[in-house]
Amino acid sequence: MNCALVTGASRGLGRAIAVQLAKDHGLHILVNYASNQAAAEETLAEIQGNGGSGELLHFNVQNRAEVDEALNGWREKNEDKFIGVLVNNAGITRDGLFMWMPEKDWDDVLNISVKGLYNVTQNAIQQMLRKRSGRIINVASVSGMKGVAGQTNYSAAKGAIIAATKSLAQEVAKRKITVNAVAPGFITSDMTKDLNEDELKQMIPMNRFGKADEVAHLVSFLASDKAAYITGEVININGGIYS
Ligand code: NAP
Repeated sequence: MNCALVTGASRGLGRAIAVQLAKDHGLHILVNYASNQAAAEETLAEIQGNGGSGELLHFNVQNRAEVDEALNGWREKNEDKFIGVLVNNAGITRDGLFMWMPEKDWDDVLNISVKGLYNVTQNAIQQMLRKRSGRIINVASVSGMKGVAGQTNYSAAKGAIIAATKSLAQEVAKRKITVNAVAPGFITSDMTKDLNEDELKQMIPMNRFGKADEVAHLVSFLASDKAAYITGEVININGGIYS
């Protein structure tokens, strides 16, 4: 059975992506989360409510030992299943001007986004390479495309994800594994709930924040057979704010 692992699927974009992948492709979804089990259970309930299947898989993406223990343990118990789709979605912001940025805020953002991508992808890609099939979709950001003041750490992390996407895509294309990134602009979620939407939306040609569902449809397309010839791409989804 084909499965999709979505990191940070308890809330926001990750939840919408998990629900959409189950709906569109009938994939069994591994709903990863860091600490918010109740929210992860809501994601699972939504998947099941639509007639899909899934399970929770707790690990902190920045901890390699935890990632390996969770994924290797799961694989031992599920020899008939294959994680054919990986969505590296987990991410955080710790905004502030660079001159005053504490080292911890730099490290936490980079460790979750970039080291997290390394940890989870290193584990999951081994089986994809053996099976000569796979879809890896990395959630970047407009911040990694253009750079955003007050987000030097986050822009660095998302820029690294974009560059890693392009490199890895070239390494694994012969094994029929595609690696792409999506770069959302402002999307309504917990991450953006404290921003001044009325003020910020004036900068967006579409004059609104995006919805998590809209990003989920794009990710779902990239996970589909129809996207087999797209790899190493970064697709902007930002209401026209930057391209
Ligand atoms: P969110 O609502 O804050 O949700 C973040 C998710 O990441 C939660 O499920 C959280 O799990 C999980 N997470 C955080 N740290 C983790 C860790 N160490 N290990 C595993 N999971 C972890 O954020 P969001 O807006 O949905 O953002 C999702 C992704 O989209 C991020 O990569 C973000 O950078 C990117 N993005 C968002 C926007 C936007 O406007 N919202 C724009 C561009 C890009 P818990 O619930 O357990 O804490």
